Amino acid sequence: MIMMNGYSDIQAPVTAISRHRIATDGDGVTTLVVLHSCPLRCRWCINPQTWQEGASFTVMTPMQLFARVRMDDLYFQATGGGITFGGGEPALRSRFIEAFRKICPKQWKINIETSLNVPQEHMERLMPVIDEFAIDIKDMDPDIYRGYTGMDNARVISNLRRLADEGLADRCVIRIPLIPEFNTDDDRENSIRQLQDMGFTRFDRFDYIIKNNR
Ligand code: SF4
Repeated sequence: MIMMNGYSDIQAPVTAISRHRIATDGDGVTTLVVLHSCPLRCRWCINPQTWQEGASFTVMTPMQLFARVRMDDLYFQATGGGITFGGGEPALRSRFIEAFRKICPKQWKINIETSLNVPQEHMERLMPVIDEFAIDIKDMDPDIYRGYTGMDNARVISNLRRLADEGLADRCVIRIPLIPEFNTDDDRENSIRQLQDMGFTRFDRFDYIIKNNR
């Protein structure tokens, strides 16, 4: 009965939907669904349209989103792909993602790109329904993190521990950026060592590229 109303009491602001992405947001062919709002204010944010005042978005129910993305069902099922929720901070919309998971075919992979800087209640909803977490931890050092994002990283570390304790480390790819003006290669290696001690093994080292006019 719940499926019939498509969880119409649950809504999320959708900033953009990008189809036919290959090997950029997870296995196979994926559709990226960008959700609005973010608790962080990263100095070199590449998606400020997801949180700046006056940003545009479309409010959708899980069933409305499913109606928009279902046309690629064959691609998803043939390639082992599915939907990747990005942002902004999509983990803040855990009820929406949980409901969407129940509506869409079980063969679809559901991935999330997240900072993990969200209250634990969101993690409890997401852990049973997310196939892969792409986690941008910025830097594990609290001072570097605060300087870059304007926020404390205690919730990030607590949520990482929660994932590891639940035996989900192999479902996580930890993205470790080199952030100009904020951290160094040594800081990055320190972060990786801490994460390895927690049980994580999959890392994606990358460098932020800063445009001249920023
Ligand atoms: S977490 Fe992502 S969307 Fe949010 S401020 Fe940082 S870079 Fe921007």
